[in-house]
Amino acid sequence: NEIIEHLRVEHELSHISFSTWIQPLKVYNVVDNTVYLLVDKAASVDYIEKKYSLPLKVCIAEITGIEYEVVFLSEDDERIEELKKMSSASTDKRKTKTAAEKAGLNPRYTFDTFIVGNNNNFAHAASLAVAESPGEVYNPLFLYGGVGLGKTHLMHSIAHFILDFSPKKKVVYVTSETFTNELIHALKNGRESSMSDFREKYRNTDVLLIDDIQFLIGKESTQEEFFHTFNHLHTAGKQIIISSDRPPKDIETLEARLRTRFEWGLIADMSAPDYETRMAILQKKIELEHLEIYHIPDDVLQYIAQNVKNNIRELEGSLNKLIALYRLEGNGRPIDINLAAEAMKDILSPDDNKTVTPELIMDIVSDHFGVSIADLKSNKRPAEIAVPRQIVMYLCRKMTDVPLKSIGILLGGKNHSTIKHGVEKIEHDVEENEQLANTIDIIKKKINPV
Ligand code: ADP
Ligand code: MG
Repeated sequence: NEIIEHLRVEHELSHISFSTWIQPLKVYNVVDNTVYLLVDKAASVDYIEKKYSLPLKVCIAEITGIEYEVVFLSEDDERIEELKKMSSASTDKRKTKTAAEKAGLNPRYTFDTFIVGNNNNFAHAASLAVAESPGEVYNPLFLYGGVGLGKTHLMHSIAHFILDFSPKKKVVYVTSETFTNELIHALKNGRESSMSDFREKYRNTDVLLIDDIQFLIGKESTQEEFFHTFNHLHTAGKQIIISSDRPPKDIETLEARLRTRFEWGLIADMSAPDYETRMAILQKKIELEHLEIYHIPDDVLQYIAQNVKNNIRELEGSLNKLIALYRLEGNGRPIDINLAAEAMKDILSPDDNKTVTPELIMDIVSDHFGVSIADLKSNKRPAEIAVPRQIVMYLCRKMTDVPLKSIGILLGGKNHSTIKHGVEKIEHDVEENEQLANTIDIIKKKINPV
């Protein structure tokens, strides 16, 4: 409509020709870069095309900033059938894509990219069975295992699989942190509608995946709400998938009634991968990320696989770091065991590093918010970066004895007063902001698991 109005004003069409030719046009569809316009009288298509297609194109480009082709169709045009097919196919595709995006799924976490080894074959088989018949086999499915062993990867794989095969199914994936923060938000809002929106989201779904349930603790109201959500879904035969770093019986703060419910379905553990599986994961990563060009020698891969045993994220991290070092050195040093050893020296292994250091805090905060270490050290101002940076300051202050000055150095050379300000800012905000308090609580538990 805006375009049509624009055409009338800019191109000074007479009132008559405007109302005869332009006004009756209807946008039939927009596919890729083409606008299809429906002309009511078949006989006038040729005339309109000659006279108005250029001005229309110009107007559309002026208004939308995109150059579109303009095609005029009469109602009996045979292209209409074709268009119908095309547009339904393309909206279908778009729907699944946004469904996976909307559900917050990582496109790389699928069954295709998941290596099955003796450490996870049971969890993998159970996940696949659940993905194939949600709500019908194991309900709930409870996956547990240590950090970096593939729980989140498997959960996303299930969600992708279900959405790929039944795009109409409602799939909700959240971490227990998000669940809690959304509940806090709904409760605080005080309006009836915000609580019913919350329930609508979590109860009106075919598949609910809750990641890292061990953090759903302490808060009674959260457990209470989750208990009702669980019952509601379970009774309706909807699939529930839960992950945790330990089995239900070991989550002390979990209410007994929830614990028993978690034991109703199937509990599958994920343990550390053996050497062969670690090698297979490294090779898969090389294939997926097209790293063959670096011709990493076998003995280097073997060296990494031999030394990083308990955490697949660190296994991948070592490979990334190796390549980053190699590229940084500008081909001066070959990719060999020495370079690998250097790449791996920062990888913190939880076994021999029980003390909380500012580096550990920074790593965990970076991972939690998906903000790079470089951004944490930078001076960037957007809240998505500044808040995690202040949380680092705050946690270093609370959890270590390191002086403010050293925290400043660690964070890319910030002065004492910046750090002090950051610490005080968070101290103040946690008092007022329950969601922030919950998030910080969870990060603390990640730093210092009990
Ligand atoms: P968790 O949720 O258990 O902490 P993640 O699912 O986040 O662990 O896995 C950590 C990293 O390791 C991810 O990048 C993931 O893709 C990778 N990973 C874990 N298990 C496997 C596997 N079996 N095959 C391939 N990659 C894996
Ligand atoms: Mg995870």
